[in-house]
Amino acid sequence: MFKKILIANRGEIALRIQRACREMGIKAVIVYSEADREAKYVKLADEAVCIGPAASSQSYLNMPAIISAAEVTDAEAIHPGYGFLAENADFAERVEKSGFVFIGPSPEAIRMMGDKVSAKQAMIKSGVPCVPGSEGVLPEEPKEIIRIARQIGYPVIIKAAGGGGGRGMRVVHTEAALVNAVQTTRTEAAAAFDNPAVYMEKFLENPRHVEIQVLADTHRGAVWLGERDCSMQRRHQKIIEEAPAPGIPRRIIERVGDRCASACKKIGYRGAGTFEFLFEKGEFHFIEMNTRVQVEHPVTELVTGIDIVQMQIRIAAGEKLPFTQRQIEVRGHAIECRVNAEDPYKFTPSPGRITTWHMPGGPGVRVDSHVYANYSVPPNYDSMIGKIIVHADTREQALARMRTALSETVVEGIQTNIPLHAELMVDAKFVEGGTSIHYLEKWLAQRRR
Ligand code: ADP
Repeated sequence: MFKKILIANRGEIALRIQRACREMGIKAVIVYSEADREAKYVKLADEAVCIGPAASSQSYLNMPAIISAAEVTDAEAIHPGYGFLAENADFAERVEKSGFVFIGPSPEAIRMMGDKVSAKQAMIKSGVPCVPGSEGVLPEEPKEIIRIARQIGYPVIIKAAGGGGGRGMRVVHTEAALVNAVQTTRTEAAAAFDNPAVYMEKFLENPRHVEIQVLADTHRGAVWLGERDCSMQRRHQKIIEEAPAPGIPRRIIERVGDRCASACKKIGYRGAGTFEFLFEKGEFHFIEMNTRVQVEHPVTELVTGIDIVQMQIRIAAGEKLPFTQRQIEVRGHAIECRVNAEDPYKFTPSPGRITTWHMPGGPGVRVDSHVYANYSVPPNYDSMIGKIIVHADTREQALARMRTALSETVVEGIQTNIPLHAELMVDAKFVEGGTSIHYLEKWLAQRRR
């Protein structure tokens, strides 16, 4: 096992990884920007190295600075967390070339999954169900494009092969608008992702977002750890996640889960990963794979009892998965609310000094956050400052537990979206379960103050 790991990230995930290291007897090196000097995990770290100014481009995205920090501290491995460099194949490659272990998949796997067209082709080959669409990149000839769209049937969605973060997509409802839309998406994709390749899919009108968590080792072992429903989204950003996904028959989930695990073996995947699907009319349709730990991993940890971050580290150290698929059991129900420093009505960011920080507790309540009273939320990064996660025997009990937890939570000095979560936890449709990815946006449009 490693003696020392460098954590190339910030915020709650930096603390989460640091906790995993501590429990495993591994020393943790934290890198931080000038804006994060006061963060709790920086103070708690075995070693901390300042890697640059607040701007991410000069700190958390600064590959040479991060690699030198690993060199001067004698770290053996680098954990990238999520966001920043976590899905950057060039970074993974540079880490390995500099003689460190990258805690994640191979650069080749990251590259293949980072290109949505090659990812989809790999999935089709591995028997993972995909959204019907063009077989690969769309050709130049307008006639061909029109033919493909007719075959798929309108509405269709044009997506950039190199797209990400909900950008580089365009929905087309009529043939008249098609060729222009493809052109515009290509131009935008070339500018934003340095890759003009676009492809076409059937546009699903009212799907849910359901994803499968996998773990794969370097000994041809691969398992899936159940599913998560992340349909509660605003502007493609998830805000509430839960496991299991309400109301989907187990046999349908098992079929897709087994396909994901076997796809991992076929493509030689290693580490933790997530297969994201749109679920509509009883069917799963693959959209993309995330080759890293996800923000919402705790709901899976609570229902399976498996520590996903520790497993990432064990896999990177060359250990075998310590369990088989049959030994994995999903128990009870877990719900996560992402706590964002933002106006709960207008969603404008609300950085600044936190004066009161009182978090909930009791059985089945987990809080993952690096924040404390008197901490100042820097304006430079994502607004998520923590996560409140609950676990109970049934979904109904988990909802009751989350309502109680939210009612105990007090944050003063900045605004947070806690009031929004409190409203959603008593919303009749959400309580019923199974809302689509458009539900939250529609709900917000009709919301009364
Ligand atoms: P990104 O990498 O930018 O997040 P995804 O492929 O994951 O791109 O798609 C992001 C979101 O766009 C999905 O969560 C879904 O809301 C919507 N979307 C993507 N493909 C489709 C589709 N075929 N039909 C309907 N909605 C889609």
